[in-house]
Amino acid sequence: MRCGKPVQTVEQEYCADCRRQQYAFNQGRSVWIHRKPVTHGIYQFKFHNKRYYAKIFAGEMAEQYGGWLRRSGIDIILPVPLHSSKRRRRGFNQAELLAEELGQLTGIPVNNQVVYRIRKTRPQKKLNHMERQNNLKGAFGVSSAWKPCKNVLIVDDIYTTGNTIHRIAKVLKKAGVQKVYFLTISIGQGL
Ligand SMILES: [Zn+2]
Repeated sequence: MRCGKPVQTVEQEYCADCRRQQYAFNQGRSVWIHRKPVTHGIYQFKFHNKRYYAKIFAGEMAEQYGGWLRRSGIDIILPVPLHSSKRRRRGFNQAELLAEELGQLTGIPVNNQVVYRIRKTRPQKKLNHMERQNNLKGAFGVSSAWKPCKNVLIVDDIYTTGNTIHRIAKVLKKAGVQKVYFLTISIGQGL
């Protein structure tokens, strides 16, 4: 099990996405499957300014996966960045809020300045499989001022195809990180 997506049978170690693609991240977990009422909660959180939901979601993350985070030896939590124009429009980055709350609950340091968006990208959900892969190529950078640590956790709201986290894991590993993990509120069922 790599991304944590439910698989069809118990014999299957990897989901269809993980079998098809070689991801740069090592492992990930999500609190819920992306379906109602979780979808609604995340939508309210992101688009209706329900910032306080971050505390609830991060609380679930810590409760379900606090042990997993400790066993994985996570040194630092990094949120998936939003492009600066998008962040201005929304007023906040939901991944940053989650990361900060999770950091407080677990005592793991958080840094919002490490991973940044180099350029704007089109929304992944509007693209097909090939377009999605190309859309995020060269989209992320890692601050040269940052001293890489061994084990990094990327935090985001939703995991769908894994392309975003794959791309970020790639640049982090290039910068010298050894293992990249992720944790999200929800995960798509795929296929
Ligand atoms: Zn998978």
